Amino acid sequence: MSTLPDWLQPTWEHLRQMIQQDRLPHALLISGPEGLGKHLLADRLTAYLLCEQPGATALACGECNACNWLRSGAHPDLVQMRPEEAGKAIKIDQVRKLGTDLEMTSHSGRYKIAVIQPAEAMNVNAANSLLKTLEEPTANTLLVLLTATPEQLPATIRSRCQQIRMGCPSTVVAKTWLVQQHIEAGVATRCLAMSSGAPLKALALAGSDSLAQRDSCLADLIVIYNGQQDPLPVAEKWAQDATNQRQIMQWWQQWINSLIRWQQAGIADQEAEIAQKLRQIVDKVDCQRLFVFSDQLAGALSGLTSGLNRQLLLEDLLIDWAGLLLKR
Ligand SMILES: [Zn+2]
Repeated sequence: MSTLPDWLQPTWEHLRQMIQQDRLPHALLISGPEGLGKHLLADRLTAYLLCEQPGATALACGECNACNWLRSGAHPDLVQMRPEEAGKAIKIDQVRKLGTDLEMTSHSGRYKIAVIQPAEAMNVNAANSLLKTLEEPTANTLLVLLTATPEQLPATIRSRCQQIRMGCPSTVVAKTWLVQQHIEAGVATRCLAMSSGAPLKALALAGSDSLAQRDSCLADLIVIYNGQQDPLPVAEKWAQDATNQRQIMQWWQQWINSLIRWQQAGIADQEAEIAQKLRQIVDKVDCQRLFVFSDQLAGALSGLTSGLNRQLLLEDLLIDWAGLLLKR
């Protein structure tokens, strides 16, 4: 079993104690920023609970039938529930099937476990259906809900789960870990800034062409803001990839926050490459308008899973963004 990153150890220790003291609830809601590694904790927990001969150190043995099934992704007592399509909703049919699966006797005589991620992707009907499962748990079942935005889950769901909240590690811890993963220190710093300090997200960024993509998005936003570029072709370009779209909007939000901080407190973006670009518009922004726009962007982000036409959504946002300057 691979080692857990340092920042996940305290939470794992907490879970381990719950198991050893027989205090594990029927449902756990583990929340924390995207890219923190919540799924690694869920993996560690399920492996330990399903293993036929777990060690005294609370690690799965890695050799028994259960461990082999897990490795091949085919353990009959584990359901991994995700949206059928990335970025889309988890549907009621999936949750209904889960309810039926959990009612069946465990194949191995141990736990039956469902890991739902991201839990906030459940649409209203799916969440209501899950409520039934949460209200009438069968013995030795465990539901693990992972989410970056617990506030998007119905209060009725949250209140029936034991909640575990996690935050990002310090920059030093995150950067040390990234360097251990063979990421060059300068790139690690940039990628951590891009991912708001979430180490796994930073690692993914470092291994992709995201740095270049992000630079290009910011360049697009600046020329649009300055009225030198029509927003519509940019919306079309950005809408082409559903997964990237969420990321782009998150970056956009970071830049808005950075602009507001810069204008109000005189603190430039800590990432020199970004500060250099934002400098072109920082004196022209109206913070009040930026606050309003930031809310609009947040609303659009939470609506991304609801099947809205992505290109239209981006067109609206980019047109309003262009209007921020013109309306001054
Ligand atoms: Zn095992």
